[in-house]
Amino acid sequence: SVTDLSEAMTTIIEGLHTQIESKNITIRRDMDDVIPVLGDTEALTQVFQNLLENAVKYGHQGTTVTIRCKSYGPGSQGMRRLGRPSVAISIIDQGDGIPREHIPRLTERFYRVDAARSRELGGTGLGLAIVKHIVNRHRGVLTIDSEVGRGSTFTVYLPQAAITDDQSKRIDVTEVNF
Ligand code: ATP
Ligand code: MG
Repeated sequence: SVTDLSEAMTTIIEGLHTQIESKNITIRRDMDDVIPVLGDTEALTQVFQNLLENAVKYGHQGTTVTIRCKSYGPGSQGMRRLGRPSVAISIIDQGDGIPREHIPRLTERFYRVDAARSRELGGTGLGLAIVKHIVNRHRGVLTIDSEVGRGSTFTVYLPQAAITDDQSKRIDVTEVNF
């Protein structure tokens, strides 16, 4: 099936508006109006719901969370990741960042960088394990970049759904089952 990530993002942001407002966070959307990817809407909504929730939760008060989307068509550099036309969606926060040595373990179930602080903030440490699982199921890739004291970038690469080039934004799809 096909999911329009732009539409999914709108739903997710609406659902997080209480947290976003109470931390005075600005959401910046750097993406096209329609972003068709191959995948299940409910599952992919869960992915970006978890990543955006983390960005707001671990981002500093009054900062910006950026959602950036890039398409990689045939012949482009980014195609290397999935070996087919793909879309990369990055969730970029301005928070504490994550020390390098923790990054490989972040997607383990119940793994948390700072147990005491995480307990204070609430949650179970399952969010990223679920993200990783769903992304893998879609034959996607998750990358994590972070700089301590600056913030983190979580990027999900997903297979692009073909879109006909007739300006009509009509989505022309080949069904793929996951
Ligand atoms: P849950 O998602 O289950 O409510 P959680 O947010 O603690 O709880 P994960 O989303 O799996 O769990 O994240 C695991 C850990 O990774 C977090 O506890 C936190 O230490 C760290 N982490 C995740 N996202 C970020 C981020 N954007 N900035 C800094 N640390 C992060
Ligand atoms: Mg989380």
